[in-house]
Amino acid sequence: MAYSSSREGLQIIRHSTAHVMAQAVQDIFKDVRIAIGPAIEDGFYYDFDYAKSFTPEDLEKIEARMKEIIAADYPFQRRELSRDEALALFREKGEVYKVELINDLPEEVTEVSIYSQGGYTDLCRGPHIPSTGMIRAFKLLNVAGAYWRGDERNKMLQRIYGTGFAAKEELDEYLNLLEEAKKRDHRRIGRELDLFQISEEAGAGLIIYHPKGAILRNIIEDWEKKEHQKRGYEMVIGPQILKVDLWKKSGHFDHYRENMYFTEVEGNAYGIKPMNCLSHMLIYKSRIRSYRDLPLRYFELGTVHRHEKTGVLHGLLRVRQFTQDDAHILCTPEQLNSEIRAVVDFVDYAMKIFGFDYEVELSTRPENSIGSDRDWELAESALRQALNDNGMAYDVNEGDGAFYGPKIDFKLKDALKRKWQCATIQCDFTLPERFDLAYIGADGEKHRPVMLHRVILGAIERFMGVLIEHYTGAFPVWLSPVQAVLLTVTDKQIPYGEKVFKVLAESGIRAEKDFRNEKLGYKIREAQAQKIPYMLVMGDREVETERLSPRRRDGKNLDALSVGAFVALIEDKCRKHE
Ligand SMILES: [Zn+2]
Ligand SMILES: [Zn+2]
Repeated sequence: MAYSSSREGLQIIRHSTAHVMAQAVQDIFKDVRIAIGPAIEDGFYYDFDYAKSFTPEDLEKIEARMKEIIAADYPFQRRELSRDEALALFREKGEVYKVELINDLPEEVTEVSIYSQGGYTDLCRGPHIPSTGMIRAFKLLNVAGAYWRGDERNKMLQRIYGTGFAAKEELDEYLNLLEEAKKRDHRRIGRELDLFQISEEAGAGLIIYHPKGAILRNIIEDWEKKEHQKRGYEMVIGPQILKVDLWKKSGHFDHYRENMYFTEVEGNAYGIKPMNCLSHMLIYKSRIRSYRDLPLRYFELGTVHRHEKTGVLHGLLRVRQFTQDDAHILCTPEQLNSEIRAVVDFVDYAMKIFGFDYEVELSTRPENSIGSDRDWELAESALRQALNDNGMAYDVNEGDGAFYGPKIDFKLKDALKRKWQCATIQCDFTLPERFDLAYIGADGEKHRPVMLHRVILGAIERFMGVLIEHYTGAFPVWLSPVQAVLLTVTDKQIPYGEKVFKVLAESGIRAEKDFRNEKLGYKIREAQAQKIPYMLVMGDREVETERLSPRRRDGKNLDALSVGAFVALIEDKCRKHE
């Protein structure tokens, strides 16, 4: 079937299935108002306004009715109506959301299209498949709350998610993947391992790290600091709020205001930083720079705030406050290639350390870009050349760069082959211009430095979310918040346990003790559920021989060893990032 072959075709099938779902919902339930129902990345959804909450049993009923609609093979019929005709039609049906959508269309739009199938009519641009009978494989997945137009000031609607594919086998494969993803959901694992919480009381999209989550974050941040220092970056720290005038100067106020939060101090307007660049510009400008000072690499674990609509917030993956491993490199045009190569190497190193494959994309000059042809050529060829020099395969997204410069994006691939944006290297021609950055060249003249914004892991929150799902919470030893747990068989071993615990703690091993008067099997099961890499069971034999018998979380027992040898084992794993 032609519709299966392309991504676009699949979108059309899925969107058509959303219409069928809306019809089924209206056929079964009375007084349901329909809002919008687009195809999305992995399927489709439709938002409904209905007095009662849809239950899993309701979804089954809806699916059954959808199958009847599909079997009836109703044609999708398109009609053009004048704006007024369409308004009258949807008003009569009581479809207030459709009326609002039509009213909000730009004035110059005089005609709209509607699609009908089997007595159901929807406002829609199309296109659709010819008839409902062409839908082969679909499944309704779940119901979630969604504010009308994604705005929490509006009414909360019910969003039914579903997915569809051209063939049954593809659907089955996807449902398996979904099942696997559910098991790995970082929000659930985060709760089970007591890593973090998101509290309605504190606010949506704001992460509260519990002790174990804070340990994980600190391990990552310590790694970042060490690796950046090794590579000639200087650590800097900027303020959380900066005067609005500065955001005007940088262009953020004009281009990024919607995503920013603002506050006021003694009558002065301040913007809470959504990016870390500005302080770094001011550090560069704090003195006259010579070509001999370059490159300068300012690194900050910079916490930023960005407004995201409530509807798109998702655990650690999409938040309103996050910390980036952000750096700005200022260099001469001649240094650009080696600087980019070094960042590409850094990303490659980081991905290997954390256990991810990745893909690379180069985005080039868009229309309506700023900067001279010469600048763009220089930057694009520097990015391209650096990838070639490092022997990297990459895709090119022609015209997909930012208006202020080209970029390289790195997408990591997790255990389920899902892709996540992590590192970016972005050339920027505007900020050096707007801040009038300069250096004195070998010729004694003033020159403009080239600027790179770059992140390696990206937002730490998001990276942690990906890590949790990638490892299903069973982190490698070096990342595990708790590396070993001491388990006594009876109270008799407690003094020995205390002694071992002290040695481990003093050696910097993250250990916990479980000396409770519980059955050993119970304690082991609990430690296993906590995904602790090593369980150190201590019975009379261990006490007598002053040894440890480690049991790994996969159930495998290691040979008994001395406490010192166990410390050396953990230290070795940490050194090797295992
Ligand atoms: Zn449609
Ligand atoms: Zn920046």
